[in-house]
Amino acid sequence: MASGGGNNRNGTHRNSLKGTTTTSTASTDKPLSVNSNPSKPAFKNKSSPLTGASSGLRKSSPGSLGGGAAKDDAGVPGRVRVAVRLRPRNAEESVADADFADCVELQPELKRLKLRKNNWDTDTYEFDEVLTEFASQKRVYEVVAKPVVEGVLDGYNGTIMAYGQTGTGKTYTLGRLGEEDTANRGIMVRAMEDILAEVSPEIDYVLVSYLQLYMESLQDLLDPTNDNISIVEEPKSGDVSLPGATLVEIRDQQSFLELLRLGEAHRHAANTKLNTESSRSHALLMVHVKRTVKGREAAHSSDNGNSTSMARSLRPPLVRKGKLVVVDLAGSERIDKSGSDGHTREEAKSINLSLSALGKCINALAENSAHVPVRDSKLTRLLRDSFGGTARTSLVITVGPSPRHRGETASTIMFGQRAMKVENMLKLKEEFDYKSLARRLDIQLDKLIMEHERKQKAFEVEIERITAEAQNRISEAERNYADAVEKERLKYQKDYMESIKKLEEKWMMNQQNQGDERKEQMVHIAEEVAEVKKLLSKETSLRKAAEEEVDNLKSQLAQLKMSEASANSEILKLRKMVEDEVCQKEKLEGEISMLQSQLLHLSFEADETRKRLDRGGPGKVPGGLDSPVSQVRSQLKDSGNGEKASVAKLFEQVGLQKILSLLEAEDADVRIHAVKVVANLAAEETNQQKIVEAGGLKSLLMLLGSSEDETIHRVAAGAIANLAMNEKNQELIMSQGGISLLSTTASHAKDPQTLRMVAGAIANLCGNDKLQTKLRGEGGIKALLEIVKCGHPDVLAQVARGIANFAKCESRASTQGSKTGRSLLIEDGALPWIVQNANSDASPIRRHTELALCHLAQHEVNAKDMISEGALWELVRISQDCPREDIRTLAHRTLASSPDFIAGLKRLRIDY
Ligand code: ADP
Ligand code: MG
Repeated sequence: MASGGGNNRNGTHRNSLKGTTTTSTASTDKPLSVNSNPSKPAFKNKSSPLTGASSGLRKSSPGSLGGGAAKDDAGVPGRVRVAVRLRPRNAEESVADADFADCVELQPELKRLKLRKNNWDTDTYEFDEVLTEFASQKRVYEVVAKPVVEGVLDGYNGTIMAYGQTGTGKTYTLGRLGEEDTANRGIMVRAMEDILAEVSPEIDYVLVSYLQLYMESLQDLLDPTNDNISIVEEPKSGDVSLPGATLVEIRDQQSFLELLRLGEAHRHAANTKLNTESSRSHALLMVHVKRTVKGREAAHSSDNGNSTSMARSLRPPLVRKGKLVVVDLAGSERIDKSGSDGHTREEAKSINLSLSALGKCINALAENSAHVPVRDSKLTRLLRDSFGGTARTSLVITVGPSPRHRGETASTIMFGQRAMKVENMLKLKEEFDYKSLARRLDIQLDKLIMEHERKQKAFEVEIERITAEAQNRISEAERNYADAVEKERLKYQKDYMESIKKLEEKWMMNQQNQGDERKEQMVHIAEEVAEVKKLLSKETSLRKAAEEEVDNLKSQLAQLKMSEASANSEILKLRKMVEDEVCQKEKLEGEISMLQSQLLHLSFEADETRKRLDRGGPGKVPGGLDSPVSQVRSQLKDSGNGEKASVAKLFEQVGLQKILSLLEAEDADVRIHAVKVVANLAAEETNQQKIVEAGGLKSLLMLLGSSEDETIHRVAAGAIANLAMNEKNQELIMSQGGISLLSTTASHAKDPQTLRMVAGAIANLCGNDKLQTKLRGEGGIKALLEIVKCGHPDVLAQVARGIANFAKCESRASTQGSKTGRSLLIEDGALPWIVQNANSDASPIRRHTELALCHLAQHEVNAKDMISEGALWELVRISQDCPREDIRTLAHRTLASSPDFIAGLKRLRIDY
């Protein structure tokens, strides 16, 4: 509208001013010279160069206020940038000043402003940017504000401020909302558009507060009740904050516009209430921008290819916090004239306090003064960072064209000129966001805790399951084991009890059957039994030890609970122990059977001892042949049915076949015991047949030949002697080479008892009529005559018995006519021994030899030899002295009837 006319006028003015400019001298040069060195060192040259700032700052167009940013970015001080904007003539001016030229002329290409002093003189000033009345809002934003906004987005504080006389377009420049025409949008709206376009709503934030400063009172335009906000300065950093101000987070442009409208409405209401105008107060829009630096973080992780996600997650995000302050200052015109707008002089002072303080501070900063009166007003305190601080500051001074306000315009221009000298030290507001890292780590921690709890629970359930399973297996194993152990234990117990019972019965029976004279031997037996018992108790204690071992194993079993695998291995171990127990049991059974055979042997020995006692005792068994067989027999008879029964019982118990098999046992002791048992059995007539049928006789004879043990010889010979009582057995013995075996045994014997047994056996064979010749042929008589060399009366008695038996059979055969010729006894040279022992002191010897002599004397064929060997004398003695009447009579009758004997008696002059 007025712009066209303005153009023309301005063109005119410029032309006219140009002329004056060229003519201007020192006054023109002075301001220029002031600005010729815009990068003069800052007032506060305190910080080190801003490292990293260069990468964060983007280049603006070369013509902008931020054109020198590259230099600033390198960390050098950043001077306050100042642009001047000329408002077009308004309607009133077009009329009122129609005849006058504008008081300013602009040379935008030279960035110069010419201020008309009078009709013939102008002052020329240079600015960072000169914006004509035709400059669009867009261009104004780009040259004045955009570099500052970009700095804020990069983490620098920024200030955009408008200074000028009321009505020159400060609010137009900063605060137009552009609702009717978007081309008219002012700096605030455009700045927010740029900011919102750059930030990420998820991680960044934009907070806004909007305030008014009037008469040193700071009011919240977003909350009218909040009308005295205090300024807080952080002593160390000097940062200024307004904790009481409302902060609104801006997410979109629309809400920001509403916020500005709301603020404007509140400003209007407040000013009505205070009876003032907006032009008297300062409006401050504060925009806090926090951005997370993404590119930087990515650069960090790419630095180190090995960096783990954990390391990345522990690195706090880097954030940049920039604060943009947009200040629409109160009108710069002087109002200190009293009553100029209804205020007292003092009020007027207070109204303008902040603005004049700002001017003073800028003066001080421009002159590098030592003292900057920052604390003189709230405005200067609030803008501390904007002038001489760390912020990038852009000032737009607005001027009107009217020559009527030339004074105010000149004053505005001077303010701008001084502000251009102010150096700031741009500082990047970059920091690590530990709070957000902590929040992120908290969330991660919560997740990990949850995960851990879930796993823990699953783990516990699994453990419970495994434990229950292990418990089941262990208790099953324990049950099985206990069953097996109990079974074994009962079996052992039963076996032991039975054995003990049998042994005790046997022992009791033996004890009952012993006579007083056998007590000594029974003590021996009792000792043996005690020994057996001891062995048994040892076995019992072994079993107890095994049970203790079992307990031990049970405790080991408890340890199995530790793990299933070890439980299984322990069970195997225990099974092996059970097997060992079974082996032990078998061993014990073997020992028991050996003990049984020992017991048999003991009873056998007891018998023998008893026999010996019988023989040596006073009461002799009357008549008959005094053979071991008969002794055993009589013993058995004497001891009654008890012993017979016990032998029979043992016989059954052990088994004949087993006993006989033991005769060939490897163990010498076993063989001895076995042969004793067999001998004992052989003493019993009812057993003899069975023994012979089972091959016992053959085994006994074989033992005589194969064994070198004299005990075996003795006992075996005794057994053979017992078996030799039977006529059929006698034939068997003979047919199996018995005589030769017996005589060999005798030739090696040292013990008289062995010889006694051998002699007893031969003696029995001598009583068999059919075997006479064979016996003599195989050396039986010679063997007997060898045996007598030992001289033991018991042995001699057996020899004598054999000879008597032989003589009796010969005598019978001669009488029957089946034998002729000399007695085989005489043939074999037995006669001298017979004669020699016929009067022996030992009655069994004497009795048998007397009988033998009588039988030999029965036949005339023997008489000559008998006489020559001195038997006649003995016959005479027998016929006179023999205590047995039948023998005495036989001797007498023989002597009286034999011609040879009678002749002999005569020849020897024996009176008979
Ligand atoms: P101030 O805020 O400095 O007191 P305003 O911004 O209120 O001044 O402007 C006063 C008047 O001038 C307003 O009507 C405004 O529209 C007008 N105006 C200011 N600057 C311009 C301009 N550059 N172009 C057109 N009109 C303008
Ligand atoms: Mg205004």
